[in-house]
Amino acid sequence: MRTVRKIVHVDMDAFYAAVEQRDEPRLRGRPVAVGGGSERGVVMTASYEARRFGVRSAMPTVHARRLCPELLVVPPRFPAYHEASQAVHEVFRSFTDLVEPLALDEAFLDVTEPKRGPPSATLAARAIKAEIRRATGLTASAGVGNGKFVAKVASGMDKPDGLTVITPERVVAFVAALPIEKFFGVGPRTAERLRGLGVSTGADLLRVDPETLRRSVGKLSEFLVDAAGGIDERPVVPDRRRKSIGAERTFARDLEERAALEAELAAVTETVGRRLVRARLAARTVTLKVRYRDFRVVTRSTTPATPVGSVREVSLWAEALLFTTPRPPGALRLVGVSVSGLFPIAHRVVQPALPFEATPESC
Ligand SMILES: [Mg+2]
Repeated sequence: MRTVRKIVHVDMDAFYAAVEQRDEPRLRGRPVAVGGGSERGVVMTASYEARRFGVRSAMPTVHARRLCPELLVVPPRFPAYHEASQAVHEVFRSFTDLVEPLALDEAFLDVTEPKRGPPSATLAARAIKAEIRRATGLTASAGVGNGKFVAKVASGMDKPDGLTVITPERVVAFVAALPIEKFFGVGPRTAERLRGLGVSTGADLLRVDPETLRRSVGKLSEFLVDAAGGIDERPVVPDRRRKSIGAERTFARDLEERAALEAELAAVTETVGRRLVRARLAARTVTLKVRYRDFRVVTRSTTPATPVGSVREVSLWAEALLFTTPRPPGALRLVGVSVSGLFPIAHRVVQPALPFEATPESC
């Protein structure tokens, strides 16, 4: 018989806002939104005090202020969040190497065979929460289950500072009662389609004709039926963090004129920026590499105060490196751009006309 896996999902509570309240006493106990304060700003994370007024992630700040006139809007301080995140991930790794980060403040852990402590997911989750608090002064919520799906739903059930354990014998009943929207992979459109089939809970998934289900939602149906039966064997995939993302172009002819270089650089930064955005990563450092006609290679780097997370930002910094630092004259034969110091980013400020969607933080 296979042993039942023990999966913990840990999610920091109102992470950015909690870091701000920890570091700034005047924000404690008050409704706080971390995000853009300008007319087009967006709330990235709201403190629990602000959530009581209906303030939510990805909401325009203007709207949030209308809901909560005393809302304190503070700009994000990514270095502080990054530092707290590192401390949290160190705690995770002290319990298991099987850590799959989902965001700065969230991860799956497989603690079936923990590095320390008894092989009890409940005790591990409790210890992890306590150590996170000791290391960062922040609270986390945890969910325990036999798979990722159940663990993740469980961690959201008793926030903040919650610990919800779904024991193996309770999994099927737990999943049966879940509304379909809670299932992994089910967005609003899929939910609508499922409801059209009369499926609104986990229990309904086991009643509906599997073929009808497959025709309606495709491959996802396999996961849904398994999950509804309490089976979710998706492995916890440890962090195989990429060190950098880069691209370069060798020109058909050596280039010297600024306009031509700008065009080549734009193509390279577009490639790099898109990959960065698609991977849901942000970068600390942007590096430019040029090769001269005589094959000499020069690289220059910059680490901006704010991490780089969009095509436009990559291109701004790469251009700054190419055109504002003094460089020896002479035609170029290659230009390359890479970004490094990568970390996952789940929270993005939505700006119109940018090709990504915001992923609001779950509460
Ligand atoms: Mg969180």
